[in-house]
Amino acid sequence: MCKKAFRIDQYLQTLSNTVFSVELLPPLRGAGIEAIYNLVDELIPYKPLFLSITYHQEEIIYEEYENNIRKRRLRKRPGTVAIAAALRFKYNIEVVPHLICGGFSREETEDALIDLNFLGIHNVLALRGDPPQHQKYFTPKKGGHRYAYELVEQIAQMNKGIFLDVDTEYPTPTNFCIGVAGYPEKHHEAPNIQTDITYLKLKVDKGAHFIITQMFFDNKYFYNFLKLTNEAGIKIPIIPGIKCITNLDQLHTIPMNFHVTIPHELVKEILKLSKPEHIKDLGIEWTVNQIKDLMANGIKCFHFFSAGKVDWITKVVNKVF
Ligand code: FAD
Repeated sequence: MCKKAFRIDQYLQTLSNTVFSVELLPPLRGAGIEAIYNLVDELIPYKPLFLSITYHQEEIIYEEYENNIRKRRLRKRPGTVAIAAALRFKYNIEVVPHLICGGFSREETEDALIDLNFLGIHNVLALRGDPPQHQKYFTPKKGGHRYAYELVEQIAQMNKGIFLDVDTEYPTPTNFCIGVAGYPEKHHEAPNIQTDITYLKLKVDKGAHFIITQMFFDNKYFYNFLKLTNEAGIKIPIIPGIKCITNLDQLHTIPMNFHVTIPHELVKEILKLSKPEHIKDLGIEWTVNQIKDLMANGIKCFHFFSAGKVDWITKVVNKVF
């Protein structure tokens, strides 16, 4: 028997203890569900509040043959809805599938949401999604959404019982709790943080119930973000996104992929180290100190970006919770 689902926004509003959640990546296409079960098996003893599962738009690749070039669609990481359901039913844990605008028409989005509703999965993270590698700029699918606020609006309409298929008789309203993304250092396409927060407010006005932030390595960005969101009238729960530096390459790959700053003080200390295990220990120590400072400032829920590795998460949780 599956534990009764709860709404994340309501749970966070009455929270007294410190909790954490984890973002998981669907395994690469072709791998079995065991790969993800192995990660979750490591996490379960630490009682995560929920697991979120990313969604990845398909890529288009061009392959050169002797006389022609063949266009091929490649879905590297399939199965977000299926993985969310498998985890919910195997571990009896709350799951948050990510839904993206990219690659989806409004009808396909509605179908995915109807499937989630049918499965009893009521918390979702509504995102625009990153453009796939073959696109420079984000381009919506024909009949799809350009911005996350439009996706939020569609889900909020379903919560009122308004579906796209107007011919459906007596549609039952859904009860989705809608999360959205926020960026303490601003989204990289936004001209400045104030403008970005104006659009974040739009997502809230359209029906978002909670925010998960992009990672940050200096808490000053998060505190400034809390101040600006408060000034903008955003009152819904905000969960800080946390990532740990565990290897040298991430000093370049993290800023490149996520458009965030790694503080000079941390970079300087990492560059003094030669052994990979020492870099990881230092990254964990930095994350632990970051979380302790956030906790001292009243933050009670933390969202860890696993990127397929959870050993650092269990170490951090052991030290701070
Ligand atoms: P939006 O809120 O639509 O914002 C995108 C940009 O448009 C911003 O610059 C914003 O300022 C601007 N904007 C918004 N509304 C308007 C408007 N009305 N007019 C003009 N400009 C506007 N990506 C994936 O592909 N899959 C995932 O699973 C995934 N998970 C994520 C989880 C978290 C916690 C976070 C923080 C990000 C995640 N991403 C994921 C990345 C995210 O999809 C990208 O950062 C994407 O580029 C923006 O998504 P968004 O939902 O913030 O978009």
